[in-house]
Amino acid sequence: MTVRVRFAPSPTGELHVGGARTALFNWLFARKHKGVFILRFEDTDIERNRPELIEPILESLRWLGLLWDEGPYFQSQRLSLYREWAEKLLKEGKAYKCYCTPEELEAKRTAALAAKQKPKYDGRCRSLTAQEEQNFIREGRQPALRIKIPQSGTIVVEDAIRGRVEFDFSELDDFILLRSDGRPTYNFAVVVDDITMGITHVIRADEHLNNTPKQILIYQAFGHPTPIFAHVPMVLAKDRSKLSKRHGATAVFEFRDRGVLPEALVNYLARLGWSYGDQEIFSKDELIANFSLDAVHPSAAIFDEEKLLWLNQHYLKTGDPQRLGELLRPFLVKLNIMSEAEAQVVPSEKLTQIVVLFRERAKTLTELAEPARYLLTDNFSYDPEAVKKFLTPEKIALLKGLAEALASVEPFTAAELEQATRAYLESQGTALKEIAQPCRVALTGRTAGAGLFETMELMGRERVLARMKSVASLLA
Ligand code: GLU
Repeated sequence: MTVRVRFAPSPTGELHVGGARTALFNWLFARKHKGVFILRFEDTDIERNRPELIEPILESLRWLGLLWDEGPYFQSQRLSLYREWAEKLLKEGKAYKCYCTPEELEAKRTAALAAKQKPKYDGRCRSLTAQEEQNFIREGRQPALRIKIPQSGTIVVEDAIRGRVEFDFSELDDFILLRSDGRPTYNFAVVVDDITMGITHVIRADEHLNNTPKQILIYQAFGHPTPIFAHVPMVLAKDRSKLSKRHGATAVFEFRDRGVLPEALVNYLARLGWSYGDQEIFSKDELIANFSLDAVHPSAAIFDEEKLLWLNQHYLKTGDPQRLGELLRPFLVKLNIMSEAEAQVVPSEKLTQIVVLFRERAKTLTELAEPARYLLTDNFSYDPEAVKKFLTPEKIALLKGLAEALASVEPFTAAELEQATRAYLESQGTALKEIAQPCRVALTGRTAGAGLFETMELMGRERVLARMKSVASLLA
């Protein structure tokens, strides 16, 4: 048996971390079992659908590297299929036409609620006589299609994550499969799709567990075996409420735009509810090799942004500097360090060097890109406290002299610069520690940063000399 799984987002919102984790678990399961990962958009809810979100959802999946093998399919393009499949159930007497109007149903609902009963369809159209049906048709009523469910019994879901969950039939009624306008209900479309797409494992969010008994009844009506269900627990915020905008970033793109690496987010999401001993850091290949539904915890997972940033820092520290450097380009623009055109032409080596020099300190690509402001442009500001503290007239004079001493250093590299600086300071009867901080402030506007000579090398001769010489003007 080939494993076939699907991720089935409804395009009603952006891809957020909960959805991305569901996609990831499906993808990992497919890869681990050499199966097929299918993408399907559940877009039959005309009121809530936002077609403009399809492309961003696809892009979020691509960015995470969760590439699908089949699809994307769109339920909105499969409406005739749902009608055909509904017709089969009607012919076999497993479904029936219901002519009740929305007003009639609403009146019954209200009455049930008033009597403190659970509103359920009363089965009025289950066994209409031909005459009754004719009358309704003559009145111009458009029928919906309802499933005929067994009158009693239980439905058992053997969930791969949750274990055994039982549902009593008394909780269910003859629910609608096709609305009177011919559109399928959510549960019906899902089952027809899962059957026709040959889905073997349904791995989806916990919130769909309550739909599962209905879906099982539809499988039974078709005489089709049910797939294995695995309901992935919710993602909660630290305060144990549902993760939402008010807790900060929730959408995949928000994390990308803050400078989180896709491999860090994937690693983090994989561990959100799934564990493998104490191991925290996993490459994609390790995830594929070790992932299993048995090790997904049935209880809710807590989203911990600090841990995500810790993983991000790990991937920043250990990633290929050249690749990371290229990833900095959009951040140079986003942080208003330079224009898009300028960001395009920054030499790769400069970006690579920034990564190498600063990655020990950065938690995100945003933080890693920030030093480019003083390294690659003159568009930065000086910390007034640092200026006051370190740029005394005596140090300014020394810096001017140093600028002259460094003017002809060749090549303009950290080692040569250090040697020339030390020699000059010695000739002035002073030492590097006397000038290191003033020099750093003059060059970068701040007191913390990477190694001084590496910084000079990266900044280039012209900027270094100009800043050393013009530093007096900062005090004016
Ligand atoms: N379309 C549903 C959602 O976005 C998923 C349903 C399913 O996986 O069965 O929540």
